[in-house]
Amino acid sequence: CGIVGYIGKAPAPRVLINGLKRLEYRGYDSAGLAVIEDGKIIVSKAPGKVASLNEKARSEWPAERFANCLSGIAHTRWATHGPPTEVNAHPHLDESGEIALVHNGIIENYRPLRARLEGTGHHFYSETDTEVLSHLIGERYKGDLFQAVCDALHQVEGTFGIAVVCAREPGKIITARRGSPIVIGVGDGETIVASDASAIISHTRQVIYLEDNDIAIVTADNVEIRDLDRIPVTREVAELGFDA
Ligand code: GLU
Repeated sequence: CGIVGYIGKAPAPRVLINGLKRLEYRGYDSAGLAVIEDGKIIVSKAPGKVASLNEKARSEWPAERFANCLSGIAHTRWATHGPPTEVNAHPHLDESGEIALVHNGIIENYRPLRARLEGTGHHFYSETDTEVLSHLIGERYKGDLFQAVCDALHQVEGTFGIAVVCAREPGKIITARRGSPIVIGVGDGETIVASDASAIISHTRQVIYLEDNDIAIVTADNVEIRDLDRIPVTREVAELGFDA
């Protein structure tokens, strides 16, 4: 349903929660976020309101820890596969726990993919279609998150807007789309990824809209966009109007 990703100089948990609040009007049934702290992924999820997630994250992570987390991803879920529980809320992790993913859309061929992965020893925690994608990325990961996401996306059918982070590459968010919108806000030393410009507007008015089958490597001060065959593509930077 709603995606926010942040990488920059501000404490990521606060930016992510504020972004999710801006997306609440679209409706959702649960929410969650993942941030990178000292080379580890930390996840917090809650069924129900973003306010519940905020409360939970605050009780789990004392304020002084927030300042160390400068990148992360977050999601408001509108369940299509699996009930709206804490376990089924996004982000979903890969087998190693070092890669976290949020996803809008539906992975149509998740059943055969999940059966194959389970056959090779992968453990699934949720009932979502989404979790196959985090495991596929983990299976393909050989030190380059962008490559791994490209390889994984070649195997899935259906629709996706995704944002992915990896504990081993903390300065980077990989985001991609097919049939589900992704917009990237280009700020001053910070970059925001979202499914809807309303989560970006308080940071910057300079935005790039991804097109279907685009995949972007996002850092605090750069956005590089390619197609799924890794060929660079050029997308215009647009200026958000004041009614956005
Ligand atoms: N199909 C995914 C799920 O059920 C994503 C739903 C969404 O777009 O929020 O978890």
